[in-house]
Amino acid sequence: MTAPKFDVIGIGCSCVDHIAVVKSLPRRDTKTPMLQYAAAAGGQSSTAAAALSRLGLKCACAGLVGDDPEGAFLKSCLREEGVDDAMVLVEPGARTPVALILVEEAAGTRTITYLDSLRGRLRAERFDFDLLLSTRCLLIDPYATSLGAALAPRARKKGIVTIYDAEHAVDDFEKMLSAADYVIGSEQVVETLGEKNVEAALRKLFSYRPRAAVITLGDKGCVSLGPGGFLRRPAFRVRAVDTTAAGDAFHAGFAYGVLAGWELSRALDFASAMGALVCRGLGGRSALPTLAETMELAERG
Ligand code: ADP
Repeated sequence: MTAPKFDVIGIGCSCVDHIAVVKSLPRRDTKTPMLQYAAAAGGQSSTAAAALSRLGLKCACAGLVGDDPEGAFLKSCLREEGVDDAMVLVEPGARTPVALILVEEAAGTRTITYLDSLRGRLRAERFDFDLLLSTRCLLIDPYATSLGAALAPRARKKGIVTIYDAEHAVDDFEKMLSAADYVIGSEQVVETLGEKNVEAALRKLFSYRPRAAVITLGDKGCVSLGPGGFLRRPAFRVRAVDTTAAGDAFHAGFAYGVLAGWELSRALDFASAMGALVCRGLGGRSALPTLAETMELAERG
């Protein structure tokens, strides 16, 4: 059997984040000056792939961008991070998705609105499944749910670990929940599942029989449910400049831990350290940590 080409393939969204730091969120019908501004490469699975590449893993991304300068920018950012971008296809006549992110200076929290300009176009028949399955792990974000659901049964047969970023209810949401080895959602997934609290949402996610389900809670840390019951982790203390991509970095750290064969609690520590460290800089990728930095914080915790 030939060795897989990649350690991790991130499948799903690539978008340009326009990040504005403001003193506080503007009131309706007013103007507010920006304290800082940056345009940066974003998107859940591609940022997670960039994070894993910085940790030394061999990564690729699969997804779509528009045939505009933003699309070319996103592909070049991936290559600069050492991530293979050959499976990030350019969609003729389409524009690249963008997100507007307002960061409140004091808390570092962010409020996002986004243009999902490639919605529904990430179709399975456009991708070479043999190449997508030449990996040890697939990270599937909410924009690739249908593609992920088509891939996951074949991935399982080959022993490829699938990690699903469950966020909103999209086509094939339940199919993907049933197929994933690990499901990780942010607090938003509680509402998506129609549950009242995090524990109930985790029980619902775990009923689809993943190896573990995790819900991240920003600066309140995370909770998981696995065969051994619930595990809770507080967040590591950092001076948060911008929490954009904390979730993406957390997913990356979790994937790193799973591939290293660590038990759940150690993978959660490492993921939490990644999530905290990425908050140190503006934009999802400016403060992506090294392996040594992450290990140091995870073990100190
Ligand atoms: P998402 O970006 O998907 O909404 P979260 O905001 O829940 O994800 O963050 C994911 C993880 O990153 C959290 O569980 C936590 O470990 C870490 N994290 C997020 N915000 C902070 C923060 N302000 N300080 C420290 N760690 C944080």
